[in-house]
Amino acid sequence: MNDVRLRTAAIVNDEILPREGVLYPHRSGHASDAQREAAHAARESIKEKVRDAGLWAPHLPTEYGGMGLDFLAHAYMNEILAYAGAAAFFGVVAPNSGNQVVLAKRGTEEQKRKWLIPLIEGTMESGFSMTEPENAGSDPRSLTTSARREGDEWVINGHKWFTSNGKRADFFIVMCVADDPTGELGRAGQQIQIIVPTDTKGVEIVRGIGIWGAPTSDHCEVRYTDVRVPVDNQLGAVGQGHEIAQERLGAGRVFHCMNSVGAMWRAFDLMVERSLTREVHGGLLRDKQFVQGFIADSYIDLQTSRLMTIKTAELVDRGDPRARVEISALKVYVPNAFHRVVDRAIQVWGAAGVSSDLPLAGMYLGARTLRLADGPDEVHRILVAKSILHHYEKGESWDFAK
Ligand SMILES: Cc1cc2nc3c(=O)[nH]c(=O)nc-3n(C[C@H](O)[C@H](O)[C@H](O)COP(=O)(O)OP(=O)(O)OC[C@H]3O[C@@H](n4cnc5c(N)ncnc54)[C@H](O)[C@@H]3O)c2cc1C
Repeated sequence: MNDVRLRTAAIVNDEILPREGVLYPHRSGHASDAQREAAHAARESIKEKVRDAGLWAPHLPTEYGGMGLDFLAHAYMNEILAYAGAAAFFGVVAPNSGNQVVLAKRGTEEQKRKWLIPLIEGTMESGFSMTEPENAGSDPRSLTTSARREGDEWVINGHKWFTSNGKRADFFIVMCVADDPTGELGRAGQQIQIIVPTDTKGVEIVRGIGIWGAPTSDHCEVRYTDVRVPVDNQLGAVGQGHEIAQERLGAGRVFHCMNSVGAMWRAFDLMVERSLTREVHGGLLRDKQFVQGFIADSYIDLQTSRLMTIKTAELVDRGDPRARVEISALKVYVPNAFHRVVDRAIQVWGAAGVSSDLPLAGMYLGARTLRLADGPDEVHRILVAKSILHHYEKGESWDFAK
């Protein structure tokens, strides 16, 4: 594990952090064609080095060309990647990475051949289409996109939004409610995930939804009108839709928290470094009491987040059922801590903190978004509280040492 960390850090420290100006020319606002070409060439050469170092696709099993890391090893590696925003250089790009994991675990051999392998090889893109504008994403049982069985086909009708990567995707994994002519399945038992190629008749990418004041984005509104796909495109069985979604989202939440820890670390470094050099009113920022308070509180936020993430990753690896509670506690704590740390770092940097010259503004929006995505804070708080109450009701207290 230490070896993976060291090799990852070597690439990040030698190849990525010192070359950010070359790798991300658009950050300066006016990248020329030559700069874009140079950036592309530099990115591809880093990916080659990553592959040569055996660090490609940490999220995937070895049989699919990945590293086959467990959660804990992945957590330690990811914080380094997230420090530099470097996951894409190592083959981890959401939502493709989540779809790869689901297809590797749940896909049939034919589905793997058709969708997983091209996704891994980078010749296809994908999205996950679950959230609906008319129904609460926090309550997946309320989703209404329907899948009606007709012979050897599913016929899908529904309305989704915030389907990330929607403009580029070659296929979506769509969360649907299967028809239930006999009335035996019950609502949760009807949920099903179906692979839908985006060029299928009836799939309409309505728009890229503008977020955070930008006029558009790649988070798309999508309509499905009498979309017909073969029954072979269903993932798992009818009724397993919710279970598969939870597998994906549960893992995704821990990955997002690992990423937040790495990004938080970077924000922390930037804050401390700035406080050592910036003079205001005849003194360095480091000597102001409010900055010392920021540094101490941010250190505590970062350490707490890191230890919670590592503990949760260990529980997931052990298959401990209590991981569910820890994932929810983590999902509430870490994005909020991330938000606080970045907010303080921006304050210390002044106007430069909100500029695109630094990664802080992007981190700030990302941290705020994470408090909603993958289940809002409130839903996870409820899960934590209910699980603990349930334990005590049974006469068992919560074993914090476990
Ligand atoms: C940038 C971005 C990318 C996304 N990408 C995807 C994607 O690729 N695919 C996809 O399917 N979805 C995606 N989403 C959607 C995301 O998963 C949902 O926004 C999220 O699940 C919340 O659902 P909702 O927006 O419908 O909010 P709602 O469910 O309407 O909830 C609104 C608010 O109600 C409150 N609330 C909810 N439940 C409770 C409760 N039980 N008790 C008390 N208060 C409660 C919370 O404060 C919550 O924020 C993305 C969202 C964003 C912002």
